[in-house]
Amino acid sequence: MLEIKNLHAEVEGQKILRGIDLTIRDGEVHAIMGPNGSGKSTLSYILAGKSDYEITEGEILFNGENLLEMEPDARAAAGVFLAFQYPIEIPGVGTMNFLKTAMNAQRKARGEPELTTPDFMRRVKEAAQTLKVSQDMLKRPLNVGFSGGEKKRMEILQMALLTPSLCVLDETDSGLDIDALRIVSEGVNALRSPERSFLVITHYQRLLDHIVPDVVHVMSKGRIVRTGGKELALELEAKGYADYVSEEAA
Ligand code: ADP
Ligand code: MG
Ligand code: MG
Repeated sequence: MLEIKNLHAEVEGQKILRGIDLTIRDGEVHAIMGPNGSGKSTLSYILAGKSDYEITEGEILFNGENLLEMEPDARAAAGVFLAFQYPIEIPGVGTMNFLKTAMNAQRKARGEPELTTPDFMRRVKEAAQTLKVSQDMLKRPLNVGFSGGEKKRMEILQMALLTPSLCVLDETDSGLDIDALRIVSEGVNALRSPERSFLVITHYQRLLDHIVPDVVHVMSKGRIVRTGGKELALELEAKGYADYVSEEAA
């Protein structure tokens, strides 16, 4: 599904990614962990198509296509979903309108007809039930007055409705309380399937107690310095990142 080969990237002449190799097959859940500043978020932004980064070497293939040549809309249409770290609040826009607009934009980019209202309502109702999003939340303006946990629920609902084949979740070092961690992990687990892959980027071993990954990677100073199974996350919890940081510095 996703093949990242020898990816090097810079921002304003500063090297941030220094040769990332990563292959994710259909249905796999990969986690990337690592100390702050190692380039984890940079990798997720590059996958999303944010334009601030200069790719100096390497390539990214998504189902055999050159992802780096696709506009962000085309990536979404092709089935890449990136969860936002800081969900936006849109006071004037009802949640249902927002969801419909997002789904129809994706359908348009895919050359598919707009959803009829009954079809849209049915899809939202089904996904909301699976992911425990209340009717009340759906009636409010997008994210306005939502708790951290409710925003996470809404993000996972958006993910479900856009039926992505690759979900990239960058869970930052800040602000994920136990409730939000549980919502993210339950949502991911509910959406796991043999056709859908996940890249879960996190500083927190705790998240991986609930989303049990197939593969764990440790990133440090712009490189993947170690790859292992789910037990690697436990080892990191016990030992921290000190080994990787000092190894790189030496
Ligand atoms: P992580 O998510 O692993 O904490 P980031 O990808 O956020 O790491 O950052 C990696 C490094 O790149 C950091 O040293 C950070 O300061 C730098 N960096 C990231 N984005 C920018 C930017 N837009 N301009 C300058 N430096 C950046
Ligand atoms: Mg960081
Ligand atoms: Mg980050």
